[in-house]
Amino acid sequence: MKTKTRESYGKLIEHVREIYLLRSTHWLLAWDQETTMQTGGEAVAYRGKQLAQLAGFEHEKATDERLDEWLSACEEDDELMGDGYSPEVVNVRETRRSFDKERKVPASLVKAYSEAQAMSKQAWSEARAEDDFGKFEPWLKKMVELCGERAKCWGWEDNGEAWDALGDEHEQGMTARMVSGVFEGLREKLVGFVGEIMEAMKNGRGPSNRFHEAEVPVKRQRGFVERVARGIGFDFDRGRLDESGHPFCLPLHRDDVRMTTRYAENMVNDALGSVLHEAGHGMYNQGVPGGEHVGTPYGDAMRLSVHESQSRMIENQVGRSEGFWRWCYPVLQEECGESVAGLSFEDVYEGANRVDASLIRVEADEATYNLHIMIRFELERAMMNGDLSPGELPGAWREKYKEYLGVEVPNDRVGCMQDIHWAQGALGYFPTYTLGNLLCAQFYEAAERELGGLNEQFANGEFGGLVAWLRDNIHRHGMAYRAEELCARVTGEGVEGGADALMRHLEGKLRPIYGV
Ligand code: ZN
Repeated sequence: MKTKTRESYGKLIEHVREIYLLRSTHWLLAWDQETTMQTGGEAVAYRGKQLAQLAGFEHEKATDERLDEWLSACEEDDELMGDGYSPEVVNVRETRRSFDKERKVPASLVKAYSEAQAMSKQAWSEARAEDDFGKFEPWLKKMVELCGERAKCWGWEDNGEAWDALGDEHEQGMTARMVSGVFEGLREKLVGFVGEIMEAMKNGRGPSNRFHEAEVPVKRQRGFVERVARGIGFDFDRGRLDESGHPFCLPLHRDDVRMTTRYAENMVNDALGSVLHEAGHGMYNQGVPGGEHVGTPYGDAMRLSVHESQSRMIENQVGRSEGFWRWCYPVLQEECGESVAGLSFEDVYEGANRVDASLIRVEADEATYNLHIMIRFELERAMMNGDLSPGELPGAWREKYKEYLGVEVPNDRVGCMQDIHWAQGALGYFPTYTLGNLLCAQFYEAAERELGGLNEQFANGEFGGLVAWLRDNIHRHGMAYRAEELCARVTGEGVEGGADALMRHLEGKLRPIYGV
């Protein structure tokens, strides 16, 4: 490496570490607000100021013009940039990407967008509570417009569309054409398969609802889910589990990972599902490269579909498997005692796999979940292209829910206003959930091919084999490989194989349970 490059790279990394320090401090305050802070008096408003102050510092650092200089010096050095996946190349590449993204949006638009976000979220929350879409409509229109302006700043390929620029913010290189190609094949298969299951349920087949109805004291649920998280491999010496309104996982450092879940007496399955999901994110965060890589992209986890593939795998492929429940059923009995004493193994294992065409995405089962995502993708794409005006959203939403899931949407509160994403301008985000599910199905098949007998291992409470495989194949690479590259490396096939892999997983498990 030339001396000049070495100097520039050193300065670049020092600067990037400072950005990570600010960000993790920002996250710590956000975690505190969601989990432990008291909200009386002016506490929330003051916390808002603290967060905004840190966000301001972060933005300032992230758009520092010197970054361009240091990056250019590195990019010009062929020796440094020679190995496509070395820590140096990954750090330069990812920093360039976020720097260009941040810099292309003028400060006036950044400000307009963040102010509109705050007001739009407020309007959404009120409109939702009162089930009055008319109150939210002008804000939705505003957010779609602002997203359009942001997209214009970033630009998109000649044969693409504005949605692509938004999609790329959440998943590098994701375009509407690519997503709709993947979804098209999956939709038909899923709609047909879910239809078969619904038909079977009408004829009285399928799991009982007893697991979902069991009333388990929250105190006992806490002990239960913590024991499960520990059992599957989340390291509690390097992380925590707390409680919040919406479950999440924030890595302040690979050795300080904060995850949360939520509890309600008659929702032990929900608390468990959330913990498994967040523990999947958490174990990924605990497994990224440490030491000198901390506070650099190479020492960070890949977003978003790859991250989601890790949470979904622990939640679904592991946590809804027969083997897992062979191990977990006695743990449930021990930890939750009398309240679950009447539940049989079938009640619990099959209950955890109950399919229900419902209205609410976050409560959806593994099979119908992706249909909820497809609906959102198709509608937001149409709004971005001007084919659907925000005012027409409630009607279009109802039509799609009828068509894909066969359900009638009784009101907009449980219809098009159920998610916060669009209210805060996160268009282009939803598909990453389904792409994560698809990737995860492919990864899991690869793990099974290489390791073999995973179900039996789970039944014995052995999760270390799978976790070590994930560490080796995915976690330890940090941000080195994008989703398609990682998929090719790990599975030997392209991401287009995801739809079939997911269907094999779902049908293999659910057909026996539903007798279809
Ligand atoms: Zn997630």
